[in-house]
Amino acid sequence: MQYAIPAWELPAVPVTGSQSPFPVRHIYCVGRNYAEHAKEMGGDATKEPPFFFTKAADSIVPVVPPRVGRIAYPMATRNLHHELELVVAIGASGANVAAADAQRLVYGYAVGLDMTRRDLQNDMREKKRPWDIGKSFAQAAPIAPISPVAQTGVLTRGDVTLRVNGEVRQHGDLSDMIWDVPHMVEFLSRLYRLEPGDLVFTGTPSGVGPVVPGDKLEGRIAGLAPLSIEIVKSDA
Ligand code: MN
Repeated sequence: MQYAIPAWELPAVPVTGSQSPFPVRHIYCVGRNYAEHAKEMGGDATKEPPFFFTKAADSIVPVVPPRVGRIAYPMATRNLHHELELVVAIGASGANVAAADAQRLVYGYAVGLDMTRRDLQNDMREKKRPWDIGKSFAQAAPIAPISPVAQTGVLTRGDVTLRVNGEVRQHGDLSDMIWDVPHMVEFLSRLYRLEPGDLVFTGTPSGVGPVVPGDKLEGRIAGLAPLSIEIVKSDA
């Protein structure tokens, strides 16, 4: 294909045990899916339907262990937050999928960080404007390799821990999710036809907080490849 301008590389995430990476089409994210995090963000933990936002596909930064990914402190913020999340990789197409059938869409799982310009997000929220500038920006979605569900089995429980400079900042269990993955797929697939290549960030446990250049983050979810990044000073 000859394009009018030089084309960029398709964003893609390595797959454990495979030479072939997973191409990324669209990134969906779920808001407030752990009760303790909903409370710390000023909401309550009642079981309302989940809500969603998106990040641009080119915001992913794949990081393969034991490498430590370098994430530049983003422009336009003074309050960059970490949100450690289970990421679900979608491998089959589906709209209006019932929770009972949702697992057939799941290709695999990965550890991801929903990096957030919290000051911009909060400012937009107060003004009743879209959150996009708080959530979708360069390097906003570091992600470890995807483990196919054929290797991991269906994940319904498992320890979720984020350490910053060796200290535990976020801790929870996948079983603490307000909406589990099948129900999340059911809700999301009523809004969008999910397609192979889509990623779904499934929400974060409590303990979100700011990071600064020099901080080293290590995210772990039981059974998956860990994610390690270092925040570095921006050149800009
Ligand atoms: Mn999040």
